[in-house]
Amino acid sequence: MHDVIVIGAGFAGCAAAREVRRAGKTPLVLEARDRIGGRTWTSDWDGQRFERGGNYFHWFQPHLWTEVMAAGVTPLAPPTGDPVHWTVNEELRTGTRAEREAINESAWNKYNAGSWEILPEPHAPLRHPDRIARLDAMTIQQRIDELDLTDDERALLMVECQGVASGYLDDAGALSVMRWHALSGHTLAGTQEAAGGYTIAEGTLAFLQPILDAAACELRLEAPIEAIEQEADRVVVTLRSGEALVARACVVTVPLNALGAIRFEPGLSEVKRSGIALGQAGIGSKVMLKVRTPGGPVSGMHPNHPFGFLGTMFDLPGDEQILVCFGHDGDEIVDGDLAWAQRELDRAAPGCEVIGMNYHDWKSDEFAQGTWGVHRPGWYTTHHAEMQRPEGRVILSNSDWADGWAGFVDGALESGKHGGRWAAAQT
Ligand SMILES: Cc1cc2nc3c(=O)[nH]c(=O)nc-3n(C[C@H](O)[C@H](O)[C@H](O)COP(=O)(O)OP(=O)(O)OC[C@H]3O[C@@H](n4cnc5c(N)ncnc54)[C@H](O)[C@@H]3O)c2cc1C
Repeated sequence: MHDVIVIGAGFAGCAAAREVRRAGKTPLVLEARDRIGGRTWTSDWDGQRFERGGNYFHWFQPHLWTEVMAAGVTPLAPPTGDPVHWTVNEELRTGTRAEREAINESAWNKYNAGSWEILPEPHAPLRHPDRIARLDAMTIQQRIDELDLTDDERALLMVECQGVASGYLDDAGALSVMRWHALSGHTLAGTQEAAGGYTIAEGTLAFLQPILDAAACELRLEAPIEAIEQEADRVVVTLRSGEALVARACVVTVPLNALGAIRFEPGLSEVKRSGIALGQAGIGSKVMLKVRTPGGPVSGMHPNHPFGFLGTMFDLPGDEQILVCFGHDGDEIVDGDLAWAQRELDRAAPGCEVIGMNYHDWKSDEFAQGTWGVHRPGWYTTHHAEMQRPEGRVILSNSDWADGWAGFVDGALESGKHGGRWAAAQT
């Protein structure tokens, strides 16, 4: 019998396994994919290292930054500059970043008015349930609609919020925007820097692998789990292959939108099951475009657009760049169609010739079924605390229901560490 089985080898799973090892117990990690990293994925495109998933990191994120420092990797700021573009009622505007951000900030501050009172301790979102109740019941769209905004403010606020939601504004919960804002020091500039300011030159794998190495454990790749059954003093984990493995405790780090595929016996609590059925709203896209452009860094903000929030990621030799583009629905991306990409880019940030495209469809990815965790209305009031509560010898640990930076790698580390410590204590 194993001490602890950890399901999933993303950041939460690797951190959980390391905690088990630190407690003197032996973890076994089972991962469905043929690689570690989950929704982070360090890849290569014609010799250029890039990330298909989680990518931006900041020292506001305590668990994450501890790992970044320990691994000795290098924070890198993508290039920025003027001019920038934004679109209002399909009309393209071009100006300086300072001009655009002044409008953006005015709208953002209206949305987030009262954040110090509503979320004074953003790492403890349930500390004052009465204060978050109103926003937790609303969608982002409902919150925007109650604000007095100019057309430019509304357009930029919509893009900024779609950047948070990675999904539809009438689906994602209004509190998610204020959570990012509060966690980032209650400013737009802080939020933009925390969620998009720095990447890691060596790639995310460069600080994930040391976590797994420290777990000193057996890792089985291409081992998707089908069922988790609890008996009096043990947990039986069944793989799709039919193989059954037994442990004293189990940490399940499967994302919220993919959890429904696993059979739990006895079943999870009703509130957990309804939280899993509700799922999370992040179903958007991250597309990398290779472009040729004579100008400097590119930046565009276009509401309801497949490349709604776009900017230069890398300057390449000559007049080539790689742009990163975030959209609100993965289904809108016509993968590999450069003519389509060119037409769409021309609407949001003209002056670039598209010469390449790189895309991973996280929405259709069986083991993710979405991008980052963005809660739907009612999540905090009804589901959040219950998702974290262990049942028997099983605990669910994933960034999607972390207390602090839920939806980020930092949240994965927070949740995974907690799960690993709890599981080790059961053995
Ligand atoms: C496009 C994109 C951009 C992002 N940008 C950022 C960013 O800039 N900064 C940031 O901090 N975060 C970002 N995120 C979010 C961040 O990547 C995630 O929050 C974090 O990686 C989640 O880690 P996790 O370990 O909790 O879950 P996951 O990484 O999803 O790990 C769960 C693991 O469980 C495995 N699994 C699933 N089902 C099974 C099964 N049945 N059996 C066995 N294994 C299974 C999965 O394959 C996966 O490896 C982004 C995510 C995406 C998709």
